[in-house]
Amino acid sequence: MPAAAPRPCSHPGCGVLVRDGSARCEKHKRPAWVKKPTAVKRVTGRKLQRLRAELFEREPLCRECGRLGLVRLATQRDHIIPLEEGGTDADGNIQPLCDACHDIKSKAERARGVRRAWDVYRKG
Ligand SMILES: [Zn+2]
Ligand SMILES: [Zn+2]
Repeated sequence: MPAAAPRPCSHPGCGVLVRDGSARCEKHKRPAWVKKPTAVKRVTGRKLQRLRAELFEREPLCRECGRLGLVRLATQRDHIIPLEEGGTDADGNIQPLCDACHDIKSKAERARGVRRAWDVYRKG
């Protein structure tokens, strides 16, 4: 088998010839741990516990219940726009919810017509 034909590195403006069959020169190789940029990684484990603790310290009560004039301790760190629907892990997309509200929201998200179900719930 002859070696792969040299190809220019695909990094914009680089052009260094690559002979090992990969698309990038030594300098521009992507580290193996880099994930696809579209996939938002769900936070888990220790880091999640810390984020939850910070959230509940900042806002200990369920935000949805608060809207309805109820006072209930939050237990869930919820993504306002779910990661599955393009939401991020930024603070602006995070809200504290109690189990009941989180449950209703999760079910609504699983169902088709996500937004409508959630709106109906919110209007009571
Ligand atoms: Zn390069
Ligand atoms: Zn609630």
